[in-house]
Amino acid sequence: MLSPKIQDALNAQINAEFWSAYLYLSMAMNFEAQGRAGVANWFRIQFQEEQAHAEIFINYLNQRGGRVLLAPIAAVETEWESPLAAFEATLVHEQKVTSLINNLFALAEEEKDYATRDRLAWFVSEQVEEEDNCRQLIDKFRLVGDNGMGQYMLDQELASRTYTAPSILNSEE
Ligand code: MG
Repeated sequence: MLSPKIQDALNAQINAEFWSAYLYLSMAMNFEAQGRAGVANWFRIQFQEEQAHAEIFINYLNQRGGRVLLAPIAAVETEWESPLAAFEATLVHEQKVTSLINNLFALAEEEKDYATRDRLAWFVSEQVEEEDNCRQLIDKFRLVGDNGMGQYMLDQELASRTYTAPSILNSEE
């Protein structure tokens, strides 16, 4: 059985993942409106990934006989002046998520809930990837600066991102 402490913490994380999804959808809509279709595409896929993260926790809670309680999702910002600004904000946000995951991992150890700790291990690696992807994009946008051709090429590059559901989501049922 899940301890009430772990159940509450996982429910809070489900809300945090949906908040991330909402944030990235908001970024996608901002860049859609600015005519940056590639950047908008990248954030739409990020939106899907965050929903998948929430679902992984939802499935896990159900698998453990826990109770999923969906809380309201807080408002998100709606304006970012440039892709660089949005990716910088994304990195700061993902670093915050990394510390949330680390705190959950520590709590699972404290509660001797090793199954939860194992599931969280996937998220620990996932956060390394999230932060790395984001840093690489920040570097690229800094490199091209205001160069129109560079911005266009980067937009094309981000347009080619496609969504693949995490394998952990498919292997659960
Ligand atoms: Mg996430």
